[in-house]
Amino acid sequence: MSKIKVKTPLVEMDGDEMTRIMWQMIKDKLILPYLDVELKYYDLGLPERDKTDDRVTVDAANAIKEYGVGVKCATITPDAERITEYKLKKAWPSPNGTIRSILDGTVFRKPIVVKNITPAVRSWKKPITIGRHAYGDLYKSMEVVADRPGKAEIVFTPDDGSAEIRATVNRFNGPGIIMGMHNTDKSIHSFAQSCIKYAISEKVDIWFACKDTISKKYHARFKDIFNEEVLAHKNEMDKAGVNYRFLLIDDAVAQIMKHEGGILWAMRNYDGDVFSDMIAAGFGSLGMMTSVLVSPEGKFEYEAAHGTVRRHYYEHLKGNKTSTNSVASIFAWTGAIKKRGELDKTPDVVKFGEELEKATLSCIESGIVTKDLMLLCNPTPKSYETTESFIDKVADRLGIAVR
Ligand code: NAP
Ligand code: MG
Repeated sequence: MSKIKVKTPLVEMDGDEMTRIMWQMIKDKLILPYLDVELKYYDLGLPERDKTDDRVTVDAANAIKEYGVGVKCATITPDAERITEYKLKKAWPSPNGTIRSILDGTVFRKPIVVKNITPAVRSWKKPITIGRHAYGDLYKSMEVVADRPGKAEIVFTPDDGSAEIRATVNRFNGPGIIMGMHNTDKSIHSFAQSCIKYAISEKVDIWFACKDTISKKYHARFKDIFNEEVLAHKNEMDKAGVNYRFLLIDDAVAQIMKHEGGILWAMRNYDGDVFSDMIAAGFGSLGMMTSVLVSPEGKFEYEAAHGTVRRHYYEHLKGNKTSTNSVASIFAWTGAIKKRGELDKTPDVVKFGEELEKATLSCIESGIVTKDLMLLCNPTPKSYETTESFIDKVADRLGIAVR
């Protein structure tokens, strides 16, 4: 059989622990037998990051900028314990944080939906994707404890020497607390642009919600900037059939419980932190949650939303059989492959990505699952697969479909 030619190189970022083990299996059994693809390989495994003083992460991010599409394995973000475990020079920063700041991107998390796993919310039929703004607000706020009576003010001092702006936050008669938050127009514009890029790429409607009825300047600024970007991209959105809807956040929460899904829900930083975990839990397992970083210029990086599954890796090192779910990692590859094919205008590459997704879903839907899905599936499968036997069964189905 001749392999399918991928026109433009794909940026591949290897990772750590159990996901690194699965990564190699996915490549060897599901990707490389079928695709003739030039992989620009960056080893983001912790030993290599340490060896290169984390240069390799920056190089990988720049490669995504150059080639446009990357696929990343989960990686360890080192803490004190990992410094000892891996004898590191220092606690290197989170690779995802580094890549996100170089690409100035937004992360979208999307659950993989299968027929035999019913979401906790009955009306959810299609994936609900969360786009979380990852800059500012509560996460870059300044807090002060007012431990005695006094006046709290916001003061803005312009650099150009013009008059400062002052506003009283509160007059304290007794102890209390104060917080100052900020965001920037630039970051909100990037966020809105990334959301629009993602929605067009996935052909889903966008919801954006905040509380501009109460926060008439801060939240209202988010609403206004979103509106501006939607107007600026009206033609592209219309062409892709993407509608935009603004809601109050409490209304959005109530509406989502009656909605069938199939939308992008764009959220401010704190709302995204809270509701992305609710949506993930509502759809089932971490092993079924994918994630894509989209830059405002339209660069894409795909990965699984979960970590390196450390506990399973230690079992693997002891020589025990593991049953780790590889579906989110497989879908990171298919997401990247389909996007590469779409950008290159090579439908056979897109089709291959779709076939691999179909083979994976058809395994799960016929009860071939890893241990994490056993109790979620209806009907309950009689047994579960190991990490490797699941991938082998996907490979069997894929082989029949594409040969
Ligand atoms: P984790 O990898 O997300 O796994 C936590 C637990 O969730 C696992 O022990 C397992 O539960 C379950 N789980 C997650 N993914 C699964 C899968 N694919 N199949 C089956 N079960 C799955 O978090 P962690 O083990 O606490 O963290 C390990 C490392 O991951 C950390 O060093 C952290 O820095 C890193 N991390 C990286 C990323 C990333 O690169 N995107 C994201 C998050 C965390 P059971 O033990 O009950 O089976
Ligand atoms: Mg959270």
